[in-house]
Amino acid sequence: MIKTEKMFDSKMLTSFHIKSSLSEYSNIKIGGKASYLLAPLSFRSLSQIIKEANKGDLEILPLGGGSNILFGNVGDRVIILDAFLPELFQVNSDVVTVSANCKISTLIDRAMTLGLGGLEFISGIPAHVGGAVNMNAGAFGKSLFDYLSWIEYIDHNGELKKKTHKELDHGYRITSIDGFITKAAFKLQKKKQADILAEKETIINKRSTRHPYDFPSLGSTFKNPEGHYAGRLIEDCQLKGTQIGGAQISEKHANFIINKENATFDDVMSLIRLAKKKVKERKNINLELEIKVIND
Ligand SMILES: Cc1cc2nc3c(=O)[nH]c(=O)nc-3n(C[C@H](O)[C@H](O)[C@H](O)COP(=O)(O)OP(=O)(O)OC[C@H]3O[C@@H](n4cnc5c(N)ncnc54)[C@H](O)[C@@H]3O)c2cc1C
Repeated sequence: MIKTEKMFDSKMLTSFHIKSSLSEYSNIKIGGKASYLLAPLSFRSLSQIIKEANKGDLEILPLGGGSNILFGNVGDRVIILDAFLPELFQVNSDVVTVSANCKISTLIDRAMTLGLGGLEFISGIPAHVGGAVNMNAGAFGKSLFDYLSWIEYIDHNGELKKKTHKELDHGYRITSIDGFITKAAFKLQKKKQADILAEKETIINKRSTRHPYDFPSLGSTFKNPEGHYAGRLIEDCQLKGTQIGGAQISEKHANFIINKENATFDDVMSLIRLAKKKVKERKNINLELEIKVIND
């Protein structure tokens, strides 16, 4: 590990080697120290990091808003923050191109001031564009790929590539993107600012009525199985409000696990296992994780 750390230090002159805890970067506020938590300041540096990681046979993990990642033991993974990379917001007619580190809320708000809408359905998600595109984030029957034109990304060899919507496989909270997204372009709709604002407020109100926004979480823990809602299945197993250590299956929405008080990785994983077991026993349905669990 010391050998590879030196290797990074010699190459990553424009990167920070952050010593802080991963809990600061995950929305559920759980996570310990990482061997490599790097925050490149330029795409050149990002590309160098990826090349070096590849040479050292180390897995890279892009980190955006951290609103879907549960950190356990991250081992020697090279965790790369998007936060200090250059920012971009460009408009060409109804196509908006943004850097991956742009917050989804900023994208929606800035597009709204230009009379461009469509993405209001994901208002209230604490995500960055890169993470949201990688997950094909969605809600209320729509997903980000409905509006995506193309992405630019750095592949595992450190090369900058561009792919159009057509060239990317995608599905329910899944995409074929393999690399670090740097930019994404969305074809939006010309709309009245007032209509966009009204739609956005309606969505945010719906979310705050249904979802537990008062405690840290990662949103929906499980994907909805075909024809079912994961939250309803868990609720039917009487698991709402179940607490293990500091983690709890939310009393408000059973598909949300919240960090009620100093929850640990193991607390959350115990609840995940419990929900999967009960739903399998009572409903004969296998719940599949939506959140990304990073653990050796
Ligand atoms: C309160 C709350 C509500 C939520 N509601 C919804 C919802 O309605 N719909 C929904 O879909 N999700 C929802 N989520 C989950 C989450 O916001 C989404 O999955 C979002 O897309 C993750 O974006 P992020 O930037 O936080 O990604 P992260 O959590 O940082 O990363 C998620 C995944 O994307 C990868 N990634 C991150 N950045 C990049 C990049 N630049 N290039 C390539 N890969 C990258 C990561 O490695 C990881 O695999 C919610 C979460 C919370 C906390």
